[in-house]
Amino acid sequence: MNRILSLILLTVLTVHLYGQKDCLIKNITIIPMDEERILSNYDIYLSNGMISKIGKNIAINSESVLTIDGSGKYLIPGLSDMHLHFWNDSTVLGLYLANGVTSIRSASGRQEYLNWSKNISNNQMEGPMLFVTTPLINDVSFIKDFIPKEFYNSLKKSKDVPQYAGEEVFLVTDFTNMEESVVNFQKNGYNSLKPYSSLTQKEFKNLCIAANNYGMDVTGHLPRQVPLDSAINWGLNELMHLEELRFEFYNNTENGLNNATIDTTGLDAVAKKLKNNNISVTTTIICNWSFVARNKDEEAFFSKPEMKYLYPETFSFYKANNEHSDYPERELELFKQILIALNKNDVNIVLGTDSQGMKDVHGFTVHDEIALLVENGLTPFEALETATVNAAKTMGQNNWGLIKENYRANLVILEGNPLDNIENTKKIVGVLNNGYYYDKDDLTKKLNDIYNYRQNNDRLITPMEGR
Ligand SMILES: [Zn+2]
Repeated sequence: MNRILSLILLTVLTVHLYGQKDCLIKNITIIPMDEERILSNYDIYLSNGMISKIGKNIAINSESVLTIDGSGKYLIPGLSDMHLHFWNDSTVLGLYLANGVTSIRSASGRQEYLNWSKNISNNQMEGPMLFVTTPLINDVSFIKDFIPKEFYNSLKKSKDVPQYAGEEVFLVTDFTNMEESVVNFQKNGYNSLKPYSSLTQKEFKNLCIAANNYGMDVTGHLPRQVPLDSAINWGLNELMHLEELRFEFYNNTENGLNNATIDTTGLDAVAKKLKNNNISVTTTIICNWSFVARNKDEEAFFSKPEMKYLYPETFSFYKANNEHSDYPERELELFKQILIALNKNDVNIVLGTDSQGMKDVHGFTVHDEIALLVENGLTPFEALETATVNAAKTMGQNNWGLIKENYRANLVILEGNPLDNIENTKKIVGVLNNGYYYDKDDLTKKLNDIYNYRQNNDRLITPMEGR
């Protein structure tokens, strides 16, 4: 709590609050994201955190309006990361804001994050708009290797209400009353259910049926035992990693993925199936590309400038331990083909990074993911869509993700046109979020504050947490 309070104090003092005051950005080039176009030299008027007017030469008659000169600059909707893990660290929120990310989704929930989400929307806490999935819902076999055998066997047969194994994992058995669990999750305010890889067919099916009955989305892994067609029939809404689709194309996996065969014959059919059933796919390909980048050049990987924001203990731990040294690099080509097929078939592709703060730094990875999407076949405009309007779509919301009147004024001011060069998403000179304006100095100060905080409050984010 202290940590949250001190951060709130630090940040509130350093930003330009326009709050009840209105804000006018003059003479800026707007990239509205409704279609691939730019609006050159427009004014945009913001009031109470909403976009109230977009036009040429908007006149103001009040001195109390905060005016920002947008000459030579570009305005895009705030970016999104729809797959991240906090591991109970609210400083992550500031890393996102400093990177122009104004909507995020925690893919493993706990009560604390629901509180953050509420406080952020009430403007009692500073951060991007926050969505929270349930804890990871997994079969009890998930903890088999970590507990005594007898205890495990008793759990497996237990008809009791499911239990938490650490706050972000929710364990179930065949006997679990999924309906009761879903009702509780919904009552607590979680946005969607997050099934995980060890669920059995029966557990997953019962979860989906209960979710459908209570109108909750199922946004998860595709459990290893569940065929994609079954998951679709039972009502899956979203795949939280593009890589969940890989087993549709691998054959002969008994001797590991490096020795398996890959056959992409059915790729278009799979993509069409997802499209026809309205299933979104969250990307998170930065993870896979990072495994390869690290294996190729360890030194360069850990020398990236943003690495300094990791907790020192965490940084040293992951530098010394590589769990992915035999990662099957050839998968990257498969993922590229999957991405292209999804895009070609107009599947709703949503940007996510799966950032954990272990060997990746929240917020910075959003820009890496966007750039990777372009490198692997999307146009800059399509890549930006995944991080803006497509994210809003997967949340079933239509008042953010575009620059449009009566939409939320969560915006990023850039020094270059990202449609010309996607690397320009990193040239951030201003962020507007939830009624606050942060100029370049504010953003730099925010990053420095987080750096200092993490140096002075060192912590190891452990592999057990990082699932
Ligand atoms: Zn994840």
